[in-house]
Amino acid sequence: MPEAGLMPLVAATSLTMALLLAAAFHRGRAALAALTLLWLQGCLGGLAMLGVPPASGQLIEAALILTPWTLLLIVLFAETPLLSMRGLLILVVLGLQSAIGLSLPPEWWDRLWQLERLPATLLPVDVREWSGMPAPGAGAWVAAFGVLLAAGRLLLRRDPVDAGLVLALLTAAVLPSWVLSGGAAWPLLAAVGFGLLASAGYASYRMAFLDALTGLPGRRLLDEKLARLGRRYAVAMVDVDHFKKFNDTHGHEVGDQVLKLVASMLRRHFGRHAYRYGGEEFTVVFPGRAMDRAEERCEAFRDAMAARKLVLRSPDRGAGKAGRKSTKRSRARGRNSVGITLSIGVATRTGDHRGPEAVIKSADEALYKAKQAGRNRVVVAGRKPAKRKVAQPA
Ligand code: GH3
Ligand code: MG
Ligand code: MG
Repeated sequence: MPEAGLMPLVAATSLTMALLLAAAFHRGRAALAALTLLWLQGCLGGLAMLGVPPASGQLIEAALILTPWTLLLIVLFAETPLLSMRGLLILVVLGLQSAIGLSLPPEWWDRLWQLERLPATLLPVDVREWSGMPAPGAGAWVAAFGVLLAAGRLLLRRDPVDAGLVLALLTAAVLPSWVLSGGAAWPLLAAVGFGLLASAGYASYRMAFLDALTGLPGRRLLDEKLARLGRRYAVAMVDVDHFKKFNDTHGHEVGDQVLKLVASMLRRHFGRHAYRYGGEEFTVVFPGRAMDRAEERCEAFRDAMAARKLVLRSPDRGAGKAGRKSTKRSRARGRNSVGITLSIGVATRTGDHRGPEAVIKSADEALYKAKQAGRNRVVVAGRKPAKRKVAQPA
């Protein structure tokens, strides 16, 4: 492999940083992908600056064609800490791959190499004539399959680690043809290192700042936001009415569904200004001139929430024909949905309460008044709750 100045060092550094950050935040899949690519870099002679000796031709080829298989295995894993059975399995796999590269007898190696090249011989077009590079072997197709899996998981679960894995697999797919036709691996490995670093970093940010159940920003971001607000703002404290009843009557899982529905409605009405304060309480911040319409917007939101019904998943689900029948019957009776109402306290920053804690406290007191006045209403701090007949949730 030709040496190319600083590039191997950049690649090794970015992959090591990705490995350490991902391991620290328990994003084991990103850490294992970075470890696998560091191993590949070592096999390609890219860790010479650390005294790792250049590898033989067979180890270089083995590392290139076997890396996609290891990455595919990592994509198939559920999230895991680095120090786990899955982490150990990848270490064993890398050890086995090293053994294949270092000591597989030549006749066995020839057979393995033929298997790797088999898909290339089946292609109807002459890839080398068309692109100047060898046709993709079995490893590249395995990597392409892994890309599809990781991209599917990314769409389904929105886990940023899967974006890093897509990048790692794409690189692993093109590297054998690229390196075997004389290209340097280091810029590609450096790019994957930074990609994994970014994806593990973003996943860690989400873990630290976003609420795991609802996806809304949590207390830490709210406190930071409040500290940065100017002189004009309002805060609304939103509390689900009789929430304990949802848990007691329908179970904790339904309670969680209620919180998710409230959070999605909050996001729709208030975007990035809605936060989960804790438990079944949420906070909305109205910065600057938005403050003037805080009450009106909270009323509209409360109204919209009261008009929504949460359709309950039947506990009979999957219980066969009889279960499905009873589900239909109970749906017909209108038993499978519950209503959710909210009480909201609003406070604006005034001369009386200058700090964010005082504004939150004032909004909390207004919320308490809304509860006392019958729930399902908005109360503005310093104002009497309006008299209104209120329907309680079903
Ligand atoms: P009120 O109308 O006066 O607000 O009554 P409430 O029942 O809503 O309020 P209370 O404070 O008595 O009960 C809140 C409950 O919320 C108690 C707690 O077990 C539950 N809870 C807090 N966090 C979660 C959560 O993340 N998921 C679920 N399912 N329940 C939660
Ligand atoms: Mg509460
Ligand atoms: Mg409540």
